[in-house]
Amino acid sequence: MIDLRSDTFTRPSDDMRRAMAQAEVGDDVFGADPTVNALEARTAELLGTEAAMYVPTGTMSNQIAVKVNTRPGDTVVVESSAHVASHELGGASVHSGVTFARIDGILGVITPEQLADTVPTRHPSLPGHLYDPHTLLCIENTHMEAGGTVWTLDQTIAVTDMARSKSMAVHLDGARIWNAWVASGTSPDLYASTADTISVCFSKGLGAPIGSAFAASAEIVAEARRYKHMFGGGFRQAGVIAAGALFALDHNIERLQEDHDNARRFATAIAETSRATTDLDTLHTNLVYFYAPDAGRIVEECEANGVAMLAFGPTRVRAVFHLDVSDDDTTKAIDVVTRVIDKGR
Ligand SMILES: *Cc1c(COP(=O)(O)O)cnc(C)c1O
Repeated sequence: MIDLRSDTFTRPSDDMRRAMAQAEVGDDVFGADPTVNALEARTAELLGTEAAMYVPTGTMSNQIAVKVNTRPGDTVVVESSAHVASHELGGASVHSGVTFARIDGILGVITPEQLADTVPTRHPSLPGHLYDPHTLLCIENTHMEAGGTVWTLDQTIAVTDMARSKSMAVHLDGARIWNAWVASGTSPDLYASTADTISVCFSKGLGAPIGSAFAASAEIVAEARRYKHMFGGGFRQAGVIAAGALFALDHNIERLQEDHDNARRFATAIAETSRATTDLDTLHTNLVYFYAPDAGRIVEECEANGVAMLAFGPTRVRAVFHLDVSDDDTTKAIDVVTRVIDKGR
């Protein structure tokens, strides 16, 4: 099976498994796992932050970010389809008691003007406590729902500067910041420098089996450690999995370009079919979304022919390119998927 459902389907390679088997470990709850500590130091270095904290999932990392940046009753501003607001099961309202103000972006990007329009303007005739406190802006780069699209550094600076002028904190959901780096050439520390807190994933395109990191100032990370434990994320000999993440940082970032190239080759072939459309101009990284009237049938028949994809609604299909999809696999997938699309009526 050529599995294009998600870059979360990547499996640890033999070399990665060897690194994991040999990892030195300790009790991470006591800060005593040397491999976790090394991963945290390396992540902080890459992101240019004082500290970082290894956590089991990107969802936990985002939830911790909302927790440390808000108080119950606050409003968090997000792009409408942001992961933290649309794919975390209402966690932010459960764990942090916040509500979301959603802004429809273009390719997942929102503008400073939109943010300014969303945050209520105070009128001198009304007491300040009547205004919903908009205390946090969350941005997502690359933006998953919008198609793995990349924010430029200029776009990021413009909207985060506006957030600061409104006294808001900024969280960057950088689950795929590695893809943004490879696609744009903008290093993750530059993106991270615009935010108070950053979340990054090791378990997607980087190919590690488990884990994400939450990065910020030493003070914020110290507070975040409390919430990691409160949310049940205090894991013990996590060095076994952290070693996979360290291996991924050392070996699997630059090669993301191959995934982007395969995604483009696949999307180009889809665009040439008679019945499906996809926008090549907005394909920035490894997530291909294409549209066809019979998404369900296409996914079903492709799967029967050895290519797994996801139907994102009745007319939308997602195909994701990653570490476990070779150039040859891409050629085979193109053959199967274009044939299945073209034979529909
Ligand atoms: C996958 C993802 C997450 C969450 O990561 P999990 O490890 O699956 O919980 C958060 N944000 C974005 C943008 C993602 O794509």
